[in-house]
Amino acid sequence: MIQSTRIQKLNEVTRRKKGDYILYWMQEAQRCQDNQALELAIRSANKYGVTVVVCFGIMDSYPEANERHYAFMLEGLADVAQGLRSRGIAFIVRRGMPGDIALALSQNATAVICERSYMPNQVRWRRQLAEKASCPVIQVETEVVVPINVVSDKSEYAARTIRPKIHRVWDEYIIPMAETELHKPSDAFEFESDFDVTDTASVLSQLDLDRSVTPVSRFKGGETEAQILLDNFVTGTVDGYADGHNEPSAEKTSFLSPYLNFGQISPVAAAVAARGTDTGSNEDRTSFIEELIIRRELAINYIAFDTDFSSYGALPGWARKTLAEHAHDEREYIYSMAELEACNTHDQHWNDAMREMVHTGFMHNYMRMYWAKKILEWSPTPECAFATTIALNNKYFLDGRGPNSYANVAWCFGLHDRAWTERPIFGKIRYMNANGLNRKFDMPAYTAFVDALVASEQN
Ligand SMILES: Cc1cc2nc3c(=O)[nH]c(=O)nc-3n(C[C@H](O)[C@H](O)[C@H](O)COP(=O)(O)OP(=O)(O)OC[C@H]3O[C@@H](n4cnc5c(N)ncnc54)[C@H](O)[C@@H]3O)c2cc1C
Repeated sequence: MIQSTRIQKLNEVTRRKKGDYILYWMQEAQRCQDNQALELAIRSANKYGVTVVVCFGIMDSYPEANERHYAFMLEGLADVAQGLRSRGIAFIVRRGMPGDIALALSQNATAVICERSYMPNQVRWRRQLAEKASCPVIQVETEVVVPINVVSDKSEYAARTIRPKIHRVWDEYIIPMAETELHKPSDAFEFESDFDVTDTASVLSQLDLDRSVTPVSRFKGGETEAQILLDNFVTGTVDGYADGHNEPSAEKTSFLSPYLNFGQISPVAAAVAARGTDTGSNEDRTSFIEELIIRRELAINYIAFDTDFSSYGALPGWARKTLAEHAHDEREYIYSMAELEACNTHDQHWNDAMREMVHTGFMHNYMRMYWAKKILEWSPTPECAFATTIALNNKYFLDGRGPNSYANVAWCFGLHDRAWTERPIFGKIRYMNANGLNRKFDMPAYTAFVDALVASEQN
């Protein structure tokens, strides 16, 4: 089922009667399964007696993306190519600005279908396409369980304010989607592509990109891998998630965030699977769904309604006020960004977390909180700490550069949180220290866990 609330017309142009195909411009949902935009394209094509073609634009030097991100994305596109081929759908991959590529191919299209994005540059690309295209441009909201405007019309204050709004309607959205067969296949059509994405290494070598951060072996991109991770999670790891997911070396989480970030798995499919399993307790499943839907969609709500989200100025007024009052407090340690990247501070736990990030493109959630709080403590100013944390987050994490990145870093600086007991440097911002980690978790096990991960990346 594709709920009508997921679908928005981006222009008022009427359907081109002589179009050759429905064009699906893929970008946010880099998958063939559980993809409402692809499904709508197929249903529309069958209805109007045409076929579907899918296009993807690969830009050199996409802002903040490096070889690590590109490699993961390209592994995913190889899966997409295979998945589309098996459904008889042509996949056109061209080099350049994605919106321009979609516009060029829209000349012969009956209509264009794209996914809704929340990041400003991508919102702009869709708006520009809709203004210039001479056929209808229709947007489908594929990357959330509940469409954000159904939930709220404003930036929500905290998880506790968005939760009841999502709970009220989510049963209408946590529903599996049936796939429709395309009546007129397009894979025999001759379309020019700039890349053969089934050869990841070759495409990677042809692109002009930042190669300062290398690909990782810990995570292989693509919906096949994402589906394996989800299956393993709902049939095993979810058991004990509620109590165990905060333990940094326990591997009690799903590891789906890189895949969700690139649209290689559907959040609806993950929610359906988590609700449908009888593995684990009700509390385990509820706790996972809270992260997957409430926390993740709170982050998307923030990005969608607070367009200044990447700047320090977007933090809540009380947080900026208290941090300003403590901006001149003495700092025992101050580290530059380069010193942080060298994973060589005085704090072993922090260094371990940073090694996990630099070498594997991921970090456990609890360690992410500690990691960001310490950058605040060890930076000359809170503004500098905020900028450094965002920059490192987006440089190294495979799940970086998205709504969760900005909202979660901002959370460490007071967003969606409340005031706590006042203390030096942090003011009323929630504080964390190494004693808390040592008390709650097996930290020597985390060091050994990271040692093993790093050794495996270096082999
Ligand atoms: C400082 C900081 C920076 C972070 N940066 C990012 C980032 O760049 N990208 C990113 O996806 N997440 C980020 N997070 C949130 C969280 O750490 C990761 O989503 C989580 O660790 C991913 O692991 P998992 O997929 O195994 O999670 P699971 O525990 O299996 O959770 C399932 C899914 O729920 C979502 N989720 C989990 N925790 C959160 C959360 N706190 N907020 C919002 N959604 C959540 C994720 O999509 C995750 O894949 C950050 C957290 C902090 C404190």
